[in-house]
Amino acid sequence: MTDTNAAAIVVGGGIGGLSAAIALRRAGIQADVYERAPELREVGAGISLWPNATRQLRRWGLLDEILRRGFRFVGGEMRTSRGDLLAGMPLPAADAPAVLIHRADLHAVLADALPPWAIRTGAEFARLSETADGVEADFGEAGTVEGSFVVGADGLWSAVRRQVLGDGDPVYRGYPVWRGVAPAGAVEWHTLTETLGRGLRFGTVPIGQGRVAWWATANEAAGADDGAEGSKARLLRLFGDWHHPIPRLIESTPDDEILKNGTYDRPPVRRWGRGRVTLLGDAAHPTTPNLGQGGCMAIEDAAVLARCLCETDDVPAALRAFERRRFRRTAWITRESLRYGQVAQWQHAAAVRVRDVLMRATPAAVMRATMGRMFAFDA
Ligand SMILES: Cc1cc2nc3c(=O)[nH]c(=O)nc-3n(C[C@H](O)[C@H](O)[C@H](O)COP(=O)(O)OP(=O)(O)OC[C@H]3O[C@@H](n4cnc5c(N)ncnc54)[C@H](O)[C@@H]3O)c2cc1C
Repeated sequence: MTDTNAAAIVVGGGIGGLSAAIALRRAGIQADVYERAPELREVGAGISLWPNATRQLRRWGLLDEILRRGFRFVGGEMRTSRGDLLAGMPLPAADAPAVLIHRADLHAVLADALPPWAIRTGAEFARLSETADGVEADFGEAGTVEGSFVVGADGLWSAVRRQVLGDGDPVYRGYPVWRGVAPAGAVEWHTLTETLGRGLRFGTVPIGQGRVAWWATANEAAGADDGAEGSKARLLRLFGDWHHPIPRLIESTPDDEILKNGTYDRPPVRRWGRGRVTLLGDAAHPTTPNLGQGGCMAIEDAAVLARCLCETDDVPAALRAFERRRFRRTAWITRESLRYGQVAQWQHAAAVRVRDVLMRATPAAVMRATMGRMFAFDA
C-alpha cells in the first residue's frame, strides 16, 4: 500500500495521537492516525482531566459526552494511612470542570470524533525518510505512507523519537504504579483521595457509573515483578491495614486486571524534531503521573500544534514554533511532577513526619494558587 493522500501522518493512537488528529482535522488539515495495536483500546484504569484539558475538549464539542460518562469533582483530600486528614485539595474556581473518567471511555469519545477511515490499526511505525517536499513513513507489513509531515505521538518509548532525536531511554524514577478499577457496586466512594505512607501511596479515583479506579506506589527497582505472590496479595500485604476503602478496593479488583507500570520521565529538551517531523504527548515530554497532567498536556499540545500550522504554510517552521510554544509549560509540569513524587515517596520515618507537618500547615490558598496556574492554561 502506498497512500499519497495523508497530509499529517500521526504515529500512535493514544490520547495524544487521537487529539492531534481531531485538532488538525478541525483546522482543515487532513490527518490520519497509524496505531500499531490490532485494535484501538485503552487500559482499564482511571484518568483525571483538569480544566486545562476539559476547556479544549469543550471546544472540540466532546465535553458533554465526557461528563456523561465520567465523574465531575470539585476537590479532594490528602490523608495518612490511618485516615487522618493531611490537607484538603480544594480546586480553584475555573471556567471548565475537572473530570475523572475511565480511560477506555475517554479513548472511545476521542476515537468517535474521527471518521473511522482516519484511524489505521495494525500499523507499526518502523522508520521515516524526508523527501524534497514531504515525508515517507514505513509501517512494515502495513506499507508506506507519504505525507507532508509526521507527528510522533507514539508514547514513552517512541520509535519516532529514537530515529529523530536518538537521545536514549527515559529515566526510571524509583517506583512503579499499580492501577485497577473496582467494578460498579463493589465499593461506594465519591472522593478523590491521595493517602501518603512511608515510601507508599494510594489514590482513589471515582470515575462515574459506580466504578472506582485506584492507584498505588511503592519504592522498588525498575522492572521488579510481584513474583509468585501476585500483585493483589502483595498490595494487600502493603496496604491491607490502611484506611477504608483501600483494602476493599484492592480485594474487589480481579488480580489479572491489576496493571503495573514503572514511573518514567525525561529531563525536558527544547527540540522535539527536525524538518517535517515533531513529537507530541509522552513521546515529546514524558512526565511522572504525580500531578495527573500527562494526558492533559497531550490534549493541549494537539490544540497548539494545529494553531501553529494554521499560522504559516512553512511546515517545518510551524513545527519548530509549536515546540518553542510548548517547551516552558511542559518542562515546568514535568519538573514539578518529579519533585512532588520524590517528596511523596519519602520513606524515612523522620522525613515523613516533617512532610506531614508541612502538609498540614500549608494553607489551602497556596495549593489553590499552584493548581490555578496549572489549570488556567488555555491552549
Ligand atoms: C499510572 C499513570 C497515571 C496517569 N494518570 C494521569 C491522569 O490522571 N491524567 C493525565 O492527564 N495523565 C495521566 N497519566 C499520563 C497519561 O497516561 C499519558 O501522558 C498519556 O497517555 C500520553 O498519551 P500519548 O498519546 O502521548 O501516549 P500513549 O498513551 O502511550 O499512546 C501512544 C500510542 O502509540 C502507540 N504506539 C507505540 N509505538 C508505536 C509504533 N511504533 N507505531 C505505531 N503506534 C505506536 C501505542 O500503542 C499507543 O496507542 C498517567 C500515566 C500513568 C502511567
